Amino acid sequence: MSNDAQQIVIVGSSFAGMTAALEIRRKLDERHRIVVLDPHADFTFIPSLIWLPFGLREPEDVTFPLGPIYQRKGIDFRATAATGFDLDQRIVHTADGEDVHYDKLLLATGPRLAFDKIPGLGPHGGHTQSVCTLDHALLARDAWTRFLENPGPVVVGTAQGGSCFGASYEFLFNVKHRIDKAGLAAAAPVTFVTAEPFLGHFGFGGVADSAKRVERFFERLGIEGIPSNAIAEVRDGEMQLEGGRVLPFAYSMIVPPFTGVDAIRATPGLGNPMGFVPIDDEFRHPQHRDVFAAGVDIAIAPPAQTPVPAGVPKTGQMSEAMARVAAHNIAADVNGTATQQMPLSEIAAVCVLDAGNNGIIFKADHVLGDSRHPHVMAGPQAHWAKVAFERYFLATRRRGMASL
Ligand SMILES: Cc1cc2nc3c(=O)[nH]c(=O)nc-3n(C[C@H](O)[C@H](O)[C@H](O)COP(=O)(O)OP(=O)(O)OC[C@H]3O[C@@H](n4cnc5c(N)ncnc54)[C@H](O)[C@@H]3O)c2cc1C
Repeated sequence: MSNDAQQIVIVGSSFAGMTAALEIRRKLDERHRIVVLDPHADFTFIPSLIWLPFGLREPEDVTFPLGPIYQRKGIDFRATAATGFDLDQRIVHTADGEDVHYDKLLLATGPRLAFDKIPGLGPHGGHTQSVCTLDHALLARDAWTRFLENPGPVVVGTAQGGSCFGASYEFLFNVKHRIDKAGLAAAAPVTFVTAEPFLGHFGFGGVADSAKRVERFFERLGIEGIPSNAIAEVRDGEMQLEGGRVLPFAYSMIVPPFTGVDAIRATPGLGNPMGFVPIDDEFRHPQHRDVFAAGVDIAIAPPAQTPVPAGVPKTGQMSEAMARVAAHNIAADVNGTATQQMPLSEIAAVCVLDAGNNGIIFKADHVLGDSRHPHVMAGPQAHWAKVAFERYFLATRRRGMASL
């Protein structure tokens, strides 16, 4: 056990970072300081962003300010970004110019949204929408309003190198639900483009009969699915696929490729070539033993190569599970107690694909490798499960609780 006061720095305050900050605070006495850095002063419940473009949620429904919660908990929050790390001196460089020393560092930065990898992709200077951040979802809402005035074909999907397949499926089903409700089905055919080798693969091979279930959903809703495809370029109103096919669109939402964030990519020896952080079973960097990582910023090798690069999904629930293990081990290092291991092959996932008034729930007790008790369920309960989880999550986090 260390008798000296330690400084724990957490970079990123979303699913992984906030969970870890609250858990570490619970496990360490007040001598030890916890500093959280994130340029966003508000937490955003990202899973609800699929509803925002359709006016079903407002920003204030799905966000809350982090500062007051952290202040109450005795956690120091700074609304600034890390710009790089000095791993020898144990320093985090920040955008506001103030260096922050750490004894233990947790990286929870999520991904960089790499729109720049595909010409014409993305809402800033490109032609497609995104629901990966609140700002993007607001732009997607403006574009949806314009689309309703002038409807036409819709293209939704996940680009090569993306890993958040659930989000694009959910957005797809919600878009289709809204189009049908507005009586626009004939004017607005919907196409789904994905890097997955088959529909319902989700970046890890699928769960039980997920491929059949998703295909059946597509058939019933009249959606064309184009799996195993890469996007070559997006131009105003049309998407060029690498196989040569051109898809015209009046509205498009594409989840972009993911890489690690710039601060990690700029630090030699911290990330892999993509900028994701390698970790061992303790969520600890293999070389820099005081550095931990959890959430979307960790490196996970896909269980099998796919013809078009498709990343392994790291859901919010998986990110929280990783953060709890990392938090336990950071506190264990400081308190001199036993550490905990959770091999990536042991991580479970529950994935709810909302479809507006319907949906599919997938449960896999192992995301990687064979799931021993896979479970798939379709029906309106999937929609209500997502709404219930949203309410539970926001209610507990607004009170500064990492769980009930
Ligand atoms: C539309 C959509 C729907 C989804 N639905 C679901 C769902 O239903 N269920 C589910 O489990 N998962 C869902 N997910 C996935 C889930 O949102 C992610 O798994 C989760 O957000 C990952 O959490 P994270 O903390 O690792 O990273 P993120 O949520 O990406 O957060 C990273 C944080 O780090 C901060 N940051 C970045 N760079 C820096 C820096 N240099 N310095 C300081 N801070 C930095 C960012 O501002 C951000 O706050 C969905 C994702 C999307 C896009």
